[in-house]
Amino acid sequence: MTEKQLIDAERFADIEYNLARIRENIAKAALDSGRSESDIKLMAVTKTVEPVYINHAIECGIDLIGENKVQEYLGKKPSLLPCEAHLIGHLQTNKVRQIVGEVSMIQSVDSVRLAKEIAKRSLSAGITTDILAEINVGGEDSKSGIEWETAEEILAEISEIEGVRLCGLMAIPPICENSLQARSFFSKMRRLFVDIQSKKLDNTSINILSMGMSSDYADAILEGATLVRVGTSLFGRRVY
Ligand SMILES: *Cc1c(COP(=O)(O)O)cnc(C)c1O
Repeated sequence: MTEKQLIDAERFADIEYNLARIRENIAKAALDSGRSESDIKLMAVTKTVEPVYINHAIECGIDLIGENKVQEYLGKKPSLLPCEAHLIGHLQTNKVRQIVGEVSMIQSVDSVRLAKEIAKRSLSAGITTDILAEINVGGEDSKSGIEWETAEEILAEISEIEGVRLCGLMAIPPICENSLQARSFFSKMRRLFVDIQSKKLDNTSINILSMGMSSDYADAILEGATLVRVGTSLFGRRVY
C-alpha cells in the first residue's frame, strides 16, 4: 500500500469506530429521555472533510450530511455518493440562488429577509424549500440567529411566506462550562419548540429540533433534540 492508502485505511477505521460509539451514546441518551434510537437523527457535519472520508461515512450508514458553506458544498457534491444534505452555516442572501434545490433543507434561516429570498428563488424553481429557524438562544452578539425575545413573532411571520416550509428550530448554544448549563439552553429551546408546535401555524410541519454537537449531543438529546449535528467526534479534528 502507498502512504496515502495507509493513511486513508487508518482514517476509515477511525470513522467506523467513532460512528459505532456515537450511535451507542445516542441510543443511551434516547432511552434515558424516554425515546428510542430511531427517534434521533444523526447528521454528519462534513465541513473541511474531503469527499473520500465523507463517502466512507456514507458507506457505513450515514444518510444525512451538513455543510456550512455553499461554495464548499457545491464543489464537493459531484464527488459524493448520493446522500441527503442540509445547509447549516450562515447564508448570505446573495448565495441563496446557488443553494436552493441543491440541499433538502436550510437549517440556518435567521431572518424574515433571508426566508423571503429563499422563498422567491424556490418559487421560481417551482419548489418549496424546507427550512429551520436558527435561534440565538444564548443572546450572543457573535452569533447569528433570531433573537430570543422576538422569536415567536418572527416565526409566525416566516410561516406565512409561500415558497418555504418551516419544519422546526436549530440552535448553537454558547460554549458552556458544564452540562447543567448546557442543558438549561437546550431546555429553553425545547420549550419554544413545543410552544410553536402547539400553535399549529398554517403551512408548517414543525417536527425537527436540531441541537447538540460533538461535545454536548447527549445532553441535547436528554432535553429533547430530534436531530444532532456531529463533526469532530466522527471525523476527528478539523484541519482548515
Ligand atoms: C461545525 C458545526 C457543527 C459540528 O461541530 P462539532 O463540534 O465538530 O461536532 C454543528 N453545527 C454547526 C452549525 C456547525 O457549524
